[in-house]
Amino acid sequence: MRLLPVALVALFLFACTPAKAPPIAGDYKLARVSEHVYVLHGPNEQPNKRNQGFMNNPGIVLTKKGVVVIDPGSSVQVGELVLKKIAEVTKNPVVAVFNTHIHGDHWLGNQAIKAAFPKAVIYAHPKMKAKTATDGESWLTLLNNLTEGAVVGTRPLAPDTHIEHGETLALNGTHFRIYHSGKAHTDGDIMVEVVEEKVMFLGDNALVDRIGRMDDGDFKGNVAALEMALATKAAHFVPGHGPSNGRAVAEGYRDYLKALHAEVKKYYDQGVSDFDMKPKVAEALARFRAWKDFEDQLGKHISLAYLQVEADAF
Ligand SMILES: [Zn+2]
Repeated sequence: MRLLPVALVALFLFACTPAKAPPIAGDYKLARVSEHVYVLHGPNEQPNKRNQGFMNNPGIVLTKKGVVVIDPGSSVQVGELVLKKIAEVTKNPVVAVFNTHIHGDHWLGNQAIKAAFPKAVIYAHPKMKAKTATDGESWLTLLNNLTEGAVVGTRPLAPDTHIEHGETLALNGTHFRIYHSGKAHTDGDIMVEVVEEKVMFLGDNALVDRIGRMDDGDFKGNVAALEMALATKAAHFVPGHGPSNGRAVAEGYRDYLKALHAEVKKYYDQGVSDFDMKPKVAEALARFRAWKDFEDQLGKHISLAYLQVEADAF
């Protein structure tokens, strides 16, 4: 009888230990965007059961002695996929990681990188880092729900240290320059320029072929961030979601945000409510209608832009 409590405790602990969901099954290929920079473009869709939560664009930069990862993805499973892809191109260790912003599909893969390379230093904007303790678990819950458990086994691992606008990190002769222009897609975005490679990682400040969510963002601020990125000497632009390309990546999303804001302001000035202006704005933005999320998110974008136009008016 004395063993019963011990057995119960053991059973309880077993029941509480989450299993780990299987590895990412899809066959994803690295794209080389410049001599030493690769991107693993995830499917340009919401996290779901089929993609197992892999839908962002992890970046891999090879320096002379070590690897730098930008946004290791939504889970320990995605982080492990990124490590597998790194092993295809180098034997060098990961020495640094950048997290572009607080949304969980970009940074919950930190855990896998740190488990394999405990000395790797994870960098993020101070406002991003400050939110990891409160937001990590809710992102995990959301991702587990959307993927039917594909991210089970993931633990939120916060960045180690802050990095701010204007700072440049030199790693083995490669320079990583950080840009932050204020609130854009979130209040804690960083964009990372790999100077020698003329590559700019934009995070979710730019999306391609999708209008995305602006719930945590600022329309004018996001436009300002993209103008800042376009003013650099970068030639290759990597969006948070969707294919990489030249300047068109930043220009296309900037044009959408600018047009949306201008239309909302025009009708606001005429006294039209956000609800009533929706069909007119949708008509004016018809050229973006084929982008993902357009039907789902346009109304929300209009309401958010309306509040921002209203706040600017006071
Ligand atoms: Zn995001």
